[in-house]
Amino acid sequence: MPTEPSDRETTTVPDTDPRFEVPLRGISVDPETRCAHWDDPVDVVALRFGCCETYYPCDACHAGAADHEAVPWRRERFDEPAVLCGACGKRLTARTYLDSDDTCPACGAAFNPGCRKHRDRYFEVEGSDGGDDKDGL
Ligand SMILES: [Zn+2]
Ligand SMILES: [Zn+2]
Ligand SMILES: [Zn+2]
Repeated sequence: MPTEPSDRETTTVPDTDPRFEVPLRGISVDPETRCAHWDDPVDVVALRFGCCETYYPCDACHAGAADHEAVPWRRERFDEPAVLCGACGKRLTARTYLDSDDTCPACGAAFNPGCRKHRDRYFEVEGSDGGDDKDGL
């Protein structure tokens, strides 16, 4: 492995990155949750996955750092914290994030608007057939 710049940490299962208040892991993560895959100034969110309730900067980080398939955050839990703003460290509920207009409501940091295009990887969306609906409660 090439040496990484010192502000970058790679954390894999079962460890979590001690720099963050929430369980978080990923590949070459900087202190504001940019990662090896998304490294622009606006790439400062980490997303919580339904499978392990752990935050990752992106789904490629989940693929590289976890030991299981990623499951998006479930719709019935959209009022729970599911997004970490890497700029201020605040946790946002899925609903707040999805309604946020690509800006952190806490600190005003700009989020990557391109994330909208692949929201379904992180959040269970209306009409997505997950094939694993547990609506029988
Ligand atoms: Zn997971
Ligand atoms: Zn990543
Ligand atoms: Zn923020």
